Amino acid sequence: MKARAVRAIRLRWKIFFYLAMFVLGLLCLLWLFQIVFLERFYRAITTQNIVSAADNLAQNIDHSDFDSLVENLAQSQDISIRVVDEAGRDISGYQVSYLAQIHGFDRLQLREWWRHAAAEGGIHFKTVDRSPQKLPEQKQREGSTASEGAMPANTPAFPWKIEFYPVENMIYARIVDRADGSRVLLLLDATITPVGSAIRTLQIQLICISVLMIVVALLLALVISKRVASPIAALNRSAKELAKGHYDTVFTGGGYEEIAELSDSLNYAAGELGKVESLRQELIANISHDLRTPLTMISGYAEVMRDLPGENTSENVQIIIDEAQRLSLLVTDILDYSKLQSGMQTLKPVLYNFTEEVRAIVERIAKLTESQGYRIQFEAEQDIWVEADEIQMSQVIYNLINNALTYTGEDRRVSLRQTVSAGWVRLAVADSGEGIPEAELPHIWDRYYRAKSNHRRGMVGSGLGLSIVRTVLERHGARYGVESELGKGSVFWFELPRADDPEEH
Ligand code: ADP
Repeated sequence: MKARAVRAIRLRWKIFFYLAMFVLGLLCLLWLFQIVFLERFYRAITTQNIVSAADNLAQNIDHSDFDSLVENLAQSQDISIRVVDEAGRDISGYQVSYLAQIHGFDRLQLREWWRHAAAEGGIHFKTVDRSPQKLPEQKQREGSTASEGAMPANTPAFPWKIEFYPVENMIYARIVDRADGSRVLLLLDATITPVGSAIRTLQIQLICISVLMIVVALLLALVISKRVASPIAALNRSAKELAKGHYDTVFTGGGYEEIAELSDSLNYAAGELGKVESLRQELIANISHDLRTPLTMISGYAEVMRDLPGENTSENVQIIIDEAQRLSLLVTDILDYSKLQSGMQTLKPVLYNFTEEVRAIVERIAKLTESQGYRIQFEAEQDIWVEADEIQMSQVIYNLINNALTYTGEDRRVSLRQTVSAGWVRLAVADSGEGIPEAELPHIWDRYYRAKSNHRRGMVGSGLGLSIVRTVLERHGARYGVESELGKGSVFWFELPRADDPEEH
């Protein structure tokens, strides 16, 4: 009980664990991309924008409408642009942000950028850091003057108070040759808007999402485990009922295909168990009855012979012997069948003369039954070899002949016929008995089945003979069957694959 409780909790926690792992994985990815890599992505995209804008400008440097191209590019890409000649004179330009630095460059600074670009093969790219911006009024209060990288003179002053983050500018300088042989310096300036505040917002959002997701995962785990566990628990309850021997237990497990399939299988198993149970009870009743009859006879006759001197006759001894034989036949059948079913008896196929073997069996049985007026005939045109388990096959033949003898008509005749067709040898055992009603035909091969209608001469059978025949034949891949006509008799037949006659070669 305790172990089961632990397992139920485990299922719940396991589902929660997997869901939580999934949620955490997702959140980690979100954190990574939204927070850790956000700035890097932002910078990479800005760099790409600035370089492609510069390429565009360089290609169209001699275009008549260069100024409007500069304006368009600056506006669409949010990049400030300034184009100066070698003397430091402005040719074109557009400032999109007061934070752009290039428009505040004096001649000295411009010369410096020329120099760097020239030294680096025409392009100089640099991210310029600026200390936090201070508002003019703050600066005044602190009595400090604008240091390097301060706001350019043309930057509008904001009257309201803003907390600035450290500002960075990506400045890209490129020397471009014009058609007339002169050279110009392209300066592009993109402000890296600080992402700190965005990240902070995202962080708070992500924390909220994380908490929410964990709670949702927990709730989901509870709901899922409950929904998964409850049909299993129902099945378990029914299984316990079944274990107590209530074979009419019905397993009802719906909701999921797997559970429905499991309950179908369990219902089937319960049905089969029920059948086995009733068979077992029937078998015990049958066998104890069947065993009791010969035993009573044996002990009865033995007592008579002991107590009454005149009864000590050979006929009475014969009755005791007959009954003892019937007993031993019964026990042998039961043993054979259980051996076959348990798989203890494996097939040991050998190549042997099938016809010869049938002939020998017929002779042996004929000798035993002749005195009682039985006549057994065997017809075969040629000797046929087969590859089969000789002992098990002879058991089949014995059983069929025995049945035929038991159920044959008043003429007490049984005939066996061997016929041959391409690749197969067929043996048919025919009797002249009452036959088997059609309704019973499918059942006679079942274990413990004994037809009620045609039990004759108080013969004791185990009801296992034909089950043994069927099992052995099926193991050999043989075909088999029975044809029966009421009042005329039955023909039991089987067909085995032929083997080559080794004596022919
Ligand atoms: P049993 O030991 O009772 O003969 P079998 O398995 O050999 O058991 O046969 C099952 C039933 O099939 C028998 O009880 C009998 O009713 C029927 N049966 C078998 N062989 C014949 C036959 N040759 N003629 C008529 N009925 C037969």
